[in-house]
Amino acid sequence: MNNYQNITYEQIGPVVRITQNRPERRNAQDERMLDELDAAFAAAERDEACRVVILAGAGDHFSAGHDIKEGMSKRANATVEERFAFEEEKYFRYSLRIFDLSKPTIAQVQGACVAGAFMVANMCDLIVASEDAYFADPVLHSFASPAVEVLFHPYALGLRLAKDVLFTGRRIDAREGLSVGMVSRVVPRIELEAQTLALAEHIAEASPFALKLAKRSLNRVLDLQGFREALSAHFDTHQLAHASSAARTLLEGGADSRIAAGKAGD
Ligand code: ZN
Repeated sequence: MNNYQNITYEQIGPVVRITQNRPERRNAQDERMLDELDAAFAAAERDEACRVVILAGAGDHFSAGHDIKEGMSKRANATVEERFAFEEEKYFRYSLRIFDLSKPTIAQVQGACVAGAFMVANMCDLIVASEDAYFADPVLHSFASPAVEVLFHPYALGLRLAKDVLFTGRRIDAREGLSVGMVSRVVPRIELEAQTLALAEHIAEASPFALKLAKRSLNRVLDLQGFREALSAHFDTHQLAHASSAARTLLEGGADSRIAAGKAGD
């Protein structure tokens, strides 16, 4: 895929910066953007000149998450089978392909980083956040889902905070994220792009093979603890929630009410 519409792909020396680019929609991740992100990460993986990948968002927000309006207009009447297939490919596999990329990845986060976007940001190896950044997964309150499709929460936040943020839908700001180790660096908004790029360039000075091995070893620690099996089990549970009567009742209020509920739950 060469003609990106909803992202941009920049080569900056040894760094590739992929930017979600629908700022007028708070970078809501529609199907096209998700396909383009997957193609862009695959291109960065293949490109030998690329050593480190940055995932960013244009405008005031990293991303508000999946494009709920598109989902409700295109897939409101999807069968259980159709929804499972769609989410397994576009949400679950696409996310894990970012997690499994052989090169270091950095999420560059400002403003909102919510639900599906919170999930994608946490597939990256490091997160650099500006002081105004906030993270939330409000889908339990707004959609009667236990959490988004990939249950990264206990690994990124610890079990107790994961329960807190899912049960309440509340926001985690950049400082709280830093204090629990989910966020790697907090920087002023005006310095976010430059500091993220400087970090990427510093990492890119190291041997790419050694970086690949370090990432492989670290990710294997989680796999040996059952990470992937736990994620797969949660994905199935998440699909069950979509088919629940509670979820159906909430969806009858329409997209705007669910988006508003998500914000209220932040
Ligand atoms: Zn879902």
